[in-house]
Amino acid sequence: MKTVVALPGEGIGIEVVDAACELMTAAGMPVKILTPPQRDPNPVPSPAGGHALPESTRRTARDADAVLFGAAGPSTSGVVAWLRWEMEAWGGVRPAKFYPGMRSPLADPEGIDLVVIRENSEGIYPGREGDLAELKRVMPGSRDRLGRGLDGYGEGRYAVKVVTRQGAERIARFACDVARKRKARGGRGVVGCATKSNVLRQSDALFHHTVEEIVAGCPDLRFEHFHVDDAARRLIRFPKAMDVLVCMNQYGDILSDVAGEVAGGLGVAPSANHGDDGWAYFESVHGSAPDIAGRGIANPTATLLSCVLLLDHLGLETESRRLEAAVARVYRDGRALTPDQGGRATTKAMSAAVLDAYRSQ
Ligand code: NAD
Repeated sequence: MKTVVALPGEGIGIEVVDAACELMTAAGMPVKILTPPQRDPNPVPSPAGGHALPESTRRTARDADAVLFGAAGPSTSGVVAWLRWEMEAWGGVRPAKFYPGMRSPLADPEGIDLVVIRENSEGIYPGREGDLAELKRVMPGSRDRLGRGLDGYGEGRYAVKVVTRQGAERIARFACDVARKRKARGGRGVVGCATKSNVLRQSDALFHHTVEEIVAGCPDLRFEHFHVDDAARRLIRFPKAMDVLVCMNQYGDILSDVAGEVAGGLGVAPSANHGDDGWAYFESVHGSAPDIAGRGIANPTATLLSCVLLLDHLGLETESRRLEAAVARVYRDGRALTPDQGGRATTKAMSAAVLDAYRSQ
């Protein structure tokens, strides 16, 4: 029996995690789901915003085999900050796969099956920001590409983007492993990399060239590079030509939303986030969706497909394949889809249909 900690976050995160946990339990999967509290009775503020996770919950999550997270919003950004930043879940896996019956905006989406690998720990998102006056003081010699100093700017703010060789190598090796596993199942064995190395000739170029070097050391894989704006366009125009696309933090965040949308929408986009020593947590790509929260109409697919990744991680391949097949079946049937997919089903009705499809295999 494997132990999974469920942390719903807020908004629709609560609805979709409830649905997913009910399904895994009702399906008789060998997972024990724990739901420790997300906040202390007297909540402690998190530096990342909202409240911090209670220490006892952190301990339970660390001891578990995996964590299933719902979605963060303003009061729970401290929860995802702990799962991702403090626990250093540096390797983001964000598949975008079209299942017939999904509502893709593309005319011919059949065959879209790609994965965005997002470096989760570096780049610009750790949020080293400050007042431009401070930067002018500590870096008086700082020059832009045209040799201009900072004095030309008036009042403002700055953000620091960090790229390290070690971080780029780590995510590149991770992307190669994903590409190899996909190749074994018929994938193309291509690792694409999206940067803006033509403009950011130190930071993005370090990422670009490090990934290129690592992929060059894998004779079974091929390397491709796209400038990030071109990658966004290609994901929409030629998504079937993409296999694995490895990106720095912010580009991966944005491109995985684009990829999820071309496959079928944010409601169907899952993710896994891996750290060291087996640490991993799983969550939908979407947020707390305040515009539909509380109405019971959120699409549970992104969370159910995150469970597919979670079950794989736990070594429960049979349950994982069966759950994915059940989701695919519900889309093929088209009778129990939520409104974002053109149907009228509630979250619960759709996950009940997935459970039926799971049981009937
Ligand atoms: P969002 O992903 O919550 O919603 C964007 C749009 O997609 C909305 O119209 C929403 O209704 C729709 N949508 C999302 N998930 C859906 C689902 N399962 N079914 C049907 N429709 C769905 O993004 P947002 O509105 O920009 O952000 C809302 C909050 O979520 C913010 O506080 C943001 O910081 C947070 N957020 C958290 C995460 C995370 O937890 N990893 C990711 C993105 C945004």
